[in-house]
Amino acid sequence: MSAARASVNREGKPLTTVHFTCPDCAQTIEVNDAMRETILESGCPVCTATAAEEDFAVTCE
Ligand SMILES: [Zn+2]
Repeated sequence: MSAARASVNREGKPLTTVHFTCPDCAQTIEVNDAMRETILESGCPVCTATAAEEDFAVTCE
């Protein structure tokens, strides 16, 4: 599976925003790369349901 990589501009700010939507409690959270990794490892921060790559949506600015 090809992971979506956030590209950055010259100032190092991400050009994309990643939102996690929990498949269980339906909570939507804006996440950065570190939070994304944590959620993939530990599950939803709200209800601890297991999260998958497909639960993250990348939005280009
Ligand atoms: Zn949840």
